[in-house]
Amino acid sequence: MNKTVYIGFGSNLKGSKNRIKDQISSALEVISASFKIEIISVSSLYESEPIGFEDQPKFINAVVKARTYLCPFGLLKFLQNIERDHEREREINWGPRTLDLDILMYENVKIETRNLSIPHPRMFERAFVMFPLREIDPELSIFNNQNIGEILENLSNQSIFKTTDHSWWENIDGSKLVDKVQP
Ligand code: ATP
Ligand code: CA
Ligand code: CA
Repeated sequence: MNKTVYIGFGSNLKGSKNRIKDQISSALEVISASFKIEIISVSSLYESEPIGFEDQPKFINAVVKARTYLCPFGLLKFLQNIERDHEREREINWGPRTLDLDILMYENVKIETRNLSIPHPRMFERAFVMFPLREIDPELSIFNNQNIGEILENLSNQSIFKTTDHSWWENIDGSKLVDKVQP
């Protein structure tokens, strides 16, 4: 488990907020149950208005820090299998979906291929990634040498809020979470 990775979780399934949370916590449960990956810390859930196609439910997002021995492409496949098992349904680009798992960063690795770009090329312009990332790792050094605070200043026009539901990961086996983030 020697590679540190950050994974973005998202869902904006139509229906109740509880169902969205269920999607996200169920994905976290599957990940934490796998011997291929060890979860280090988990952010709060963040709620935001959808970007792009706007006539859709709100997004719920979170960021998870983990360690793994999977290579970047192995990790992508692993996450895509979990998306598939959650019956990801999506007809419209950037439209509603049950579960979206993105690799945000993988160590200091840079990859640009057709199927995989790391760091995630759009993460720096997304408040729903950068806020939870700062919550779990305020000192994180980002590739372009900007700190997270500076990046977030430029995203202040995006409406997002941290939910007060601090216990969304409580049904996850606590012993697997090395460092639960306290809000
Ligand atoms: P966005 O990438 O803007 O967040 P999205 O998550 O909605 O959009 P998807 O439809 O989930 O996009 O993914 C499309 C493809 O992106 C996937 O098939 C995958 O091969 C590719 N991809 C490239 N880089 C990454 C990454 N860092 N993490 C996950 N998928 C990636
Ligand atoms: Ca995404
Ligand atoms: Ca994705």
